[in-house]
Amino acid sequence: EPALEISNLQKFYDSYHALRSINLTVARGEKVVICGPSGSGKSTLIRCINHLEAHDAGTINVLGTALNDNVSNIDEIRREVGMVFQHFNLFPHMTVLENCMLAPMLVRKVPRARAEETAMAYLEKVRITDQAEKYPGQLSGGQQQRVAIARALCMEPEMLLFDEPTSALDPEMIGEVLNVMTDLASEGMTMICVTHEMGFARKVADRVIFMDRGEIVEEAAPGSFFDNP
Ligand code: ADP
Ligand code: ADP
Repeated sequence: EPALEISNLQKFYDSYHALRSINLTVARGEKVVICGPSGSGKSTLIRCINHLEAHDAGTINVLGTALNDNVSNIDEIRREVGMVFQHFNLFPHMTVLENCMLAPMLVRKVPRARAEETAMAYLEKVRITDQAEKYPGQLSGGQQQRVAIARALCMEPEMLLFDEPTSALDPEMIGEVLNVMTDLASEGMTMICVTHEMGFARKVADRVIFMDRGEIVEEAAPGSFFDNP
């Protein structure tokens, strides 16, 4: 079964038609990049996938489970679908390590010692173990975003969603975040990334999707996408 199967998805904000009949299937292990102009619905689409927004019509099937109005299964789905936002969303009053331990302990009921071990392993993976005892405000934007990725990984998700993970970063910090994302991709993680980083898309994506005004208007392998404008 696919990691994600969306058919005829529609989303309204009051009368504003933000998503118009989106159809999208993502295989397990696939890397999809979504691009398109500001306001085209990219963020809304990502947010519908883990039900940060409720959709108005159509179906969304995540890892074999349908998202519907009866969202009793939503916690289960969110455990399997990690999310990385533009603005990191780390808890400012908790250390880097505590940020990474929180959800596994609260949601997965992982014992503290095990949660710490897992957190340190993923902080190592994003090359930031030396900052484990610091608070987010003491870190650069690039470091905070790598922590946010580690935090998502600590839930051992099946799939990761990225919503413009580098858009809020100073240019010199973008590379370190893209490198971590590239590592994850090469390890077979299913990834759906809203990003304007076309170098990343070309190198990592299996498929690039272009959105405009709430619709998918173009969908192609990255090579053909870039070569035939
Ligand atoms: P993108 O991520 O491509 O920039 P968004 O999904 O954020 O696009 O937004 C798509 C459209 O929906 C925009 O016109 C935006 O203003 C509108 N929109 C997004 N979120 C809301 C909201 N919570 N309430 C009303 N309109 C919204
Ligand atoms: P993004 O970078 O994800 O496109 P935005 O800056 O467009 O983020 O939106 C940030 C937040 O504001 C989101 O929660 C979005 O749903 C909300 N939002 C965006 N556009 C509108 C709007 N026109 N009316 C109300 N809320 C909006």
